[in-house]
Amino acid sequence: MSNIRIKASKCQECDKVIVPPRDLCPYCRHKSTGTNLIELRNEGEVLSFTELHKPPEGFNSPLKMALVKLEYDAVVLCLGAEDFNSQVEIGSLVNLTYDSEGRVRFSLE
Ligand SMILES: [Zn+2]
Repeated sequence: MSNIRIKASKCQECDKVIVPPRDLCPYCRHKSTGTNLIELRNEGEVLSFTELHKPPEGFNSPLKMALVKLEYDAVVLCLGAEDFNSQVEIGSLVNLTYDSEGRVRFSLE
């Protein structure tokens, strides 16, 4: 268990939580100003996942990708951890972390 927090922003207009943080809300197009950054717990639930067998250069094959729901119903697309080769299922509980490039990675709890 780590203490990593996932950076997000909360729309000042519609209250949706967005990962990674953005000034322009993708739901209502409101442009937030100032401090709308929040941090989320790095535990989530897999909503959907896929596996790329021809991932972009620099990634190991197969590359697992998952859509993960965090607290406040924030949804983030993340990659499997570099050494990740377990089976993931819809509803799997995962922990998120950042890799050295700042990408969000998941592994099973
Ligand atoms: Zn919004």
